[in-house]
Amino acid sequence: MHLARFPRLFLAHLPTPLERLDRLSAALGGPEIWIKRDDCTGMSTGGNKTRKLEFLMAEAQAEGADVVMTQGATQSNHARQTAAFAAKLGIDCHLLLENRTGSKNPDYNHNGNVLLDHLHGASSETRPGGVDMHAEMEAVAERYRAEGRRVYVIPGGGSNPTGALGYVDCAYELLGQANARGLVIDHLVTATGSAGTQAGLIAGLKAINARIPLLGFGVRAPKPKQEENVYQLALKTAEKLGCPGVVEREDVVADTEYVGEGYGIPREDTIEAIRLFAELEGILLDPVYSGKGAAGLIDYCRKGYFKEGERIVFLHTGGSAALFGYTQSLEADHDVID
Ligand SMILES: *Cc1c(COP(=O)(O)O)cnc(C)c1O
Repeated sequence: MHLARFPRLFLAHLPTPLERLDRLSAALGGPEIWIKRDDCTGMSTGGNKTRKLEFLMAEAQAEGADVVMTQGATQSNHARQTAAFAAKLGIDCHLLLENRTGSKNPDYNHNGNVLLDHLHGASSETRPGGVDMHAEMEAVAERYRAEGRRVYVIPGGGSNPTGALGYVDCAYELLGQANARGLVIDHLVTATGSAGTQAGLIAGLKAINARIPLLGFGVRAPKPKQEENVYQLALKTAEKLGCPGVVEREDVVADTEYVGEGYGIPREDTIEAIRLFAELEGILLDPVYSGKGAAGLIDYCRKGYFKEGERIVFLHTGGSAALFGYTQSLEADHDVID
């Protein structure tokens, strides 16, 4: 449980603020909603990948890597943040971007995170949706190795036990903040995708016996698959931490009812959640992850799943850079006075 034993770069802006959302709580009329601002972690607009990359990039550096590779969807926040870390460390970065949504929209394909990837000096190549991105990345890594390069390959979303350590640390940080102000957290809520965030949080919360239920709102996979992915990674993360056996299957809960048509395709309630946070709290969500997580949170409040007086913490995982890749979905019905 002693995280200082793992190699780590200290580049994130930590601790991230824990704030009460007064206007959103009032509008929803039930529980007290708090937000953990992991959209403010720093490194190219911030987001949850910063905490993971502190551990992953320290490992890359320790192994003497001269190029890091990773993969993700076209508007991957993880790809953008990896590019920023590589720039900071003076390591080359090569990205494989999958057009998972099939979009031909120029903003989706060139603006937002893609623009930032290239600003940070990363090179990239694209793949059509549906290909085995892990295999594609291995093939390209082999190409680099054949040229004599030392490649460090980061899995999609930075989700392996090393990356998940970043969210073990976040669990400790959040508990420290809540304890310091006498805040009893009844539920912790977050978006869940490649699983490292939820798995790290579970391993961390269980290792210190926090007894805070964690709910993940899925963005892609159906519930059984998402929960199994999180569970397997949480087990491995707990083992890496030196506390095997703390994670149980029932600790892992994902609700995938807010995914809609598929990954990266916002629904009406995703857009509504983005608007509510922006208009009531001055906070930017994103159309792929935090917008869907917040849509789930809002619906749970409206349906009374979270009770009056309960304290809910929404972990904001970032992603606002992707808003600029989704101008079409966001501009569609806003009020413009010409
Ligand atoms: C990657 C990402 C997530 C999902 O986190 P995982 O660890 O992949 O489950 C959530 N929100 C944003 C903004 C992300 O970029």
